[in-house]
Amino acid sequence: MDLDSIVGHSEIKEHIKSSIKNNRVNHAYIFDGPDGIGKMTLARAFAKTLNCEEGGTEACGRCTSCRTFDEDNNPDVIYVTHKSSVISVDDVRDQIVKNLALKPYKNRYKIFVIPDAHKMNEAAQNAFLKSLEEPPDYGIFILLSENYNNFLVTVLSRCILFKLKPLPYDTVADHLINKEGIDSEQARLYAGYSMGNIGRAKMLMDSPQFRDIRDKAAKTAAELESADMTKLYDIIDEIKAYIKEDKQILDTILENIYMIYRDALVYIKTGDEQRLIQSDKLSDVFFIADTASGSSLIKRCEAIEDTRVKLRNNGNVQLLLETLFFKIKEK
Ligand SMILES: [Zn+2]
Repeated sequence: MDLDSIVGHSEIKEHIKSSIKNNRVNHAYIFDGPDGIGKMTLARAFAKTLNCEEGGTEACGRCTSCRTFDEDNNPDVIYVTHKSSVISVDDVRDQIVKNLALKPYKNRYKIFVIPDAHKMNEAAQNAFLKSLEEPPDYGIFILLSENYNNFLVTVLSRCILFKLKPLPYDTVADHLINKEGIDSEQARLYAGYSMGNIGRAKMLMDSPQFRDIRDKAAKTAAELESADMTKLYDIIDEIKAYIKEDKQILDTILENIYMIYRDALVYIKTGDEQRLIQSDKLSDVFFIADTASGSSLIKRCEAIEDTRVKLRNNGNVQLLLETLFFKIKEK
């Protein structure tokens, strides 16, 4: 993967290219953003370009450095690993500090890519700081992080911080059609769930559990329309049995019910099937569009968002679902 073939993130790509062109490459970068947003892809393209023997703003793909890089065999690009849930001071000493003292084997730069860098504990960051403060000319660090607030100010101040933003819906859908080869209905569906994140879209596409959860959510949404109080409590019991105390699954169910309501609302307002995301759940969407009003659907969506926030803040599942379903049943 080269810089030019990466989807989106154009400001970051431009920054990288211009710093290479003007010989102003910094020693340390942070690529920050959620899992799947493209941090590693960017970091790899950056590292490959930096060490390309042609020295251009785009890796040539032919030189020894590029070829060994593509084979994951470039001795001067090091991926820092960690065995436990944190990156410890030993990880930093063994893999970064000691290694940095040795000159690059063949290439201009010795590049350390640090996935999960936000998991460096304070001691590890302090150990890393020494390398960061006085790096040799050849030392480059690319930190991948899901939360840059975890870095010490002293670390942060020495890095160029790139925040990776979600991609537009159409960009994700086009990518899924053109690069992943899925049809446009499926592409619309998964782009809708992607939150602007191609990695997330691909992960969901490959997940049988996600398909099962979507079916469960659609069934629940349809049942809720006609449920009386007794049935409503049955639905809650069924959901609790289904999620087995995994709140992440419940969150995904709620997200899916939200998406069905969203589609029903769009259908009421526009009558345009092409705008619907849940292309494989159209009968449920039409049924709800028939039975619920637009204003009620808006309130329901707000109630679901509210419930998801409370769920993340450790709210009680039974109480949250009761409150939510009462609101959904409100005329
Ligand atoms: Zn090259």
